[in-house]
Amino acid sequence: MRHVVEWRVMAERRGGEKLAEFQKRLLDWFRANRRDLPWRRTRNPYRVWISEIMLQQTRTAAVLPYFRRFFRAFPSLKALARARGDAVLRAWAGLGYYSRARNLHRAARIIVREHGGRFPETLDDALALPGVGDYTARAVLSIAYGAPLAVLDGNVARVIARREAIEGDPRAPGCWKKLQDIADRWLATDAPGDWNQAVMELGATICTPRRPRCGACPVRDGCRALRLGLVDRLPERRVKPTTVRLRIAAAVLLDERGRTLLVRSSGPAKENAPERPDDLGSIFSRMWHFPALVVASGYSRSDLERHLRAEYGVDGARWQALGKLRHTVTFREITIEPWLALTDSLPRDGGRAVALDHVPRMAVSSASRKIAIAALAELGRDE
Ligand code: SF4
Repeated sequence: MRHVVEWRVMAERRGGEKLAEFQKRLLDWFRANRRDLPWRRTRNPYRVWISEIMLQQTRTAAVLPYFRRFFRAFPSLKALARARGDAVLRAWAGLGYYSRARNLHRAARIIVREHGGRFPETLDDALALPGVGDYTARAVLSIAYGAPLAVLDGNVARVIARREAIEGDPRAPGCWKKLQDIADRWLATDAPGDWNQAVMELGATICTPRRPRCGACPVRDGCRALRLGLVDRLPERRVKPTTVRLRIAAAVLLDERGRTLLVRSSGPAKENAPERPDDLGSIFSRMWHFPALVVASGYSRSDLERHLRAEYGVDGARWQALGKLRHTVTFREITIEPWLALTDSLPRDGGRAVALDHVPRMAVSSASRKIAIAALAELGRDE
């Protein structure tokens, strides 16, 4: 019995030494090679939080100009909380996934009201903020406050799945939990912010989805996928959601003063509710958009006319077809068939009258911007 206990203590000590060596190699590599990114020059929780939200579903290179622009417009969390909603959306315009900007704004107001204007320091308080999920909360708290919390995102999941040769779809709940347990075990608790960024950096620059550069990897010793020849097979591919093809007819109403009608489709989707492919609110990012209708392939303009009459009381417009537009939103491939509809006056209710020239510069989705630009081009008023 004494021998068994001694053997176990020795094995644990060896495991601990291996882990410490692994952490040291990765941290040394990160500190010597990290990319110089503006959000890495600070531990300011507001800046770290904004960068983490912007980097969700968006590449680092694409985020850089928006990050700078956003901080020029809202240099502090209090300035963001004080701002008008449309000013925040304008600063975000072009980054996509606008619910992120709306949630940031709401969260900033909550932080000012309930946390004295400073990003909360506990996981529970951070998770209670709109738009802050487990990954974001752990990233901000570990980087800004040094909280011992390990992050798990796509990059980290890939590194773990390969190094530990974990099979299965990483996003499947059981597998994700297993990966989080390993991420927790790996965490260098004396430098959690650097550690989290080091694993993410390894996934972003060396242990990439395709053609990982194992020869340059600082932690290739002990990588099980490399030893077993499984690097190209791990992590297992996710089953992609099926692409849905949609057609939308949209009307650019134009009165004699050059104004058009913008409308809004339903309120925010319920948290976690499955997204309906034909939900116009989601297609137009829950922002102001031209009156539109999801149509079947055999539709005629009279369907759109009927819709405008029934919904907004529009009658007697003079119609002109604009060229078809292609647009992709998440799993949808959309063909937009826009129409210019010249009218004497715009309806008073059910929407908002704005100068058509102004629409491309407003906080609208890229689908609406494309439609506005097509209409302006038809009128000889190129953007
Ligand atoms: S050795 Fe290759 S597969 Fe393993 S962690 Fe490094 S880059 Fe990834």
